[in-house]
Amino acid sequence: MSKLFVLSEQASIAHHYLTDLRSVERQQDRRLFWDSMERLGFLLAYELSKQLNYEQATVKTPLGTKEHYRLPDAPVLGVILRAAIPLYEGFRRMFPEADTAFVGEYRKEGSEAGGAEGVEIEQFYTTTPALEGRTLILIDPMLASGKSIVTAYRALAAKGGEPQALHIVSVIAARQGIEYVQQQLPSARCWVADIDPALNQKAYIVPGLGDAGDLAFGEKL
Ligand code: URA
Repeated sequence: MSKLFVLSEQASIAHHYLTDLRSVERQQDRRLFWDSMERLGFLLAYELSKQLNYEQATVKTPLGTKEHYRLPDAPVLGVILRAAIPLYEGFRRMFPEADTAFVGEYRKEGSEAGGAEGVEIEQFYTTTPALEGRTLILIDPMLASGKSIVTAYRALAAKGGEPQALHIVSVIAARQGIEYVQQQLPSARCWVADIDPALNQKAYIVPGLGDAGDLAFGEKL
């Protein structure tokens, strides 16, 4: 089973949403930015749903019976504040019975001056249900150095225990960030809408889309 799924490998409506997110003009329309993130979340959630465990269920209709699959155990959605919230919304709509874990963290100011290697993450808030035996879907729209996701996972596992399955979801991932995640969290499966080639000196993804948190919520001080 492949450990990496890339939505943009096929031409689909996902590309249309990606252009709305990336376009330096169109991304200024906040409603469009949120909608595009959310829709990509919904599409990624559907693709990911194909790798969850189902049980057979017989459903009684007014006219007969039919065999289907049902998801017996809702996943836990892990949200990295604050940029992940629009993408999370697409997952929450696909899995409305999911529990949600939150992680608050930020890059230490100036730590990215030397590029991805220098990035240090300060993690300050974690709330999670018990994770043992469950499927954790950790959501962050921009997978740059990969350090935010790995730090968030470690904080959640330290508090909630090790999940039985781990999925990492991003809209845009840098190749080196994916490699870092795969090296640090070898059991994780990564689900991304697109992969970009480079990080700049501030460890932002190039061409990327800029600052996903600022575009969704406004510029921070
Ligand atoms: N976070 C963002 O919002 N954008 C990037 O390019 C990298 C991290």
